[in-house]
Amino acid sequence: MKLDIKDRFRVELPADPILVNTRRQVEKACFSYATPKQTAKPELLHVSPEMLDAIGLTKEDAKSDTFLQVFTGNAILPNTKPYAMCYGGHQFGNWAGQLGDGRAINLAEVAHQNKHWTIQLKGAGETPYSRTADGLAVLRSSVREYLCSEAMYHLGVPTTRALSLALSGDQVLRDMMYDGNAAYEKGAIVSRVAPSFLRFGNYQIFAARQDTKTLKTLVNYTIKHHFSHLGKPSKETYLQFFEAVLNNTLEMLIHWQRVGFVHGVMNTDNMSILGLTIDYGPYGWLEGYDANWTPNTTDKQFKRYRFGAQLEIGLWNLLQLANALYPLIEEAKGLENILNTYNEKAADQYIAMMRSKLGLLLEDEKDVALIFSLEEILQLTETDMTIFFRNLSNFSTETPSEGLQIIEDAFYVPTEVSEDIKEKWNSWFTDYAARLQQEGISAEERKQKMNLVNPKYVLRNYMAQLAIDDANKGDYKLIDTLFQLLKKPYDEQPENQKWFAKRPEWARHKAGCSMLSCSS
Ligand code: AMP
Ligand code: MG
Ligand code: MG
Repeated sequence: MKLDIKDRFRVELPADPILVNTRRQVEKACFSYATPKQTAKPELLHVSPEMLDAIGLTKEDAKSDTFLQVFTGNAILPNTKPYAMCYGGHQFGNWAGQLGDGRAINLAEVAHQNKHWTIQLKGAGETPYSRTADGLAVLRSSVREYLCSEAMYHLGVPTTRALSLALSGDQVLRDMMYDGNAAYEKGAIVSRVAPSFLRFGNYQIFAARQDTKTLKTLVNYTIKHHFSHLGKPSKETYLQFFEAVLNNTLEMLIHWQRVGFVHGVMNTDNMSILGLTIDYGPYGWLEGYDANWTPNTTDKQFKRYRFGAQLEIGLWNLLQLANALYPLIEEAKGLENILNTYNEKAADQYIAMMRSKLGLLLEDEKDVALIFSLEEILQLTETDMTIFFRNLSNFSTETPSEGLQIIEDAFYVPTEVSEDIKEKWNSWFTDYAARLQQEGISAEERKQKMNLVNPKYVLRNYMAQLAIDDANKGDYKLIDTLFQLLKKPYDEQPENQKWFAKRPEWARHKAGCSMLSCSS
């Protein structure tokens, strides 16, 4: 295997001088060297051909023993020195101090086709940042991360990527949240890839420790490598950097709202500085459209990270990043001015995105009311978001009274759709038909455009769970089936119609399908 490792790691950043994995507070350093754990019996379960290609490897390379050993942490590539990063973060609104890569280890960086990638193992054993946990990951959470990150990429959502999914051959002890008992599960390792895994929390930790020197080094490094168009660091550049992060974060969040993705744990340590979706933990996909829904059992009481709050939380998190950058700028006004643009940008971009879901190319001032009333009606009874928007592209302005029939497959409990609710739908369809009349495009053209933004196939929570149940029994076929399906989420794929269906009733309250916890 010829892995073209360029600058194995970026020595410009201050490193922790202690060369052991033992848990500790790490001061004045951006990362600590960490050695991945040797695994008992590594076994590769799946590899992403797109990601292989992106880093300049072939499918043949992926069949080699070197590949297996490297991407499960058993062999270290020559001239590389794996490391874990130091970060802090606000968890559920509270400052949590040092967190860091407790179970992630950056292996190396690869430059290929003018792109620079960092390769990271998740679940490869303890690091100085493991705190009270084991540094490992189980098959269940690894399948979820592997499938979802590649699915998000194909949906056009900015995201970290996944290269490979492997079993470690080790057993990992986990609390089974739902019955309260601890049990052994199969250990697994995902190798994930991104231009950078830096998070808001990487900057926050130095601000919290009043270590402005290291903070500045890290910010300058980030600008040099990831925002180089901004030029030489200065107070002005720092503001522009913050503005760019705000724009990228918002863009990502609007995509989440478009496809019905609920991250579930938007702590500031899970916010990528590049605006990539990162940390596929207790995420979930909206089935019934519900602004109040969160998949995260740990957040069931306050629902801080519910679907309808994701944009708002984005701003809260950006405010924390602004606080972290403040010591470099020492003047609040500039940061405040940028933060103050967020709400208007978010509203504009949200409405533009919703217009695209409805097939509206022109702008009309009444669109906001049309969109808000739709959101209200969608929540009157349990209505599948994906099926609703996909089927809506079949709506005809000539027969608005058939609207209900077109979307009826989206209703979970058809008997709940009362006469009153039907009337509301009919009235909405009448308004929608009138609005569509203003548009100059044909029904066919509109359908095509809508089908490019309204996916037909998403990784429904129960689908991931079916793949996990099979995988736990040693059958990995469904992982590949879903991987292939989700590569073309906007295509009709008539042969895969069975995945264009509502969540089955058995999955409504099943662990893994509707309830997930933070770390597994
Ligand atoms: P998360 O909730 O996944 O964002 O994780 C929060 C923090 O806990 C991060 O610092 C993680 O690295 C750490 N963490 C999560 N799971 C583990 C684990 N199994 N072992 C060590 N650290 C972990
Ligand atoms: Mg995390
Ligand atoms: Mg996590």
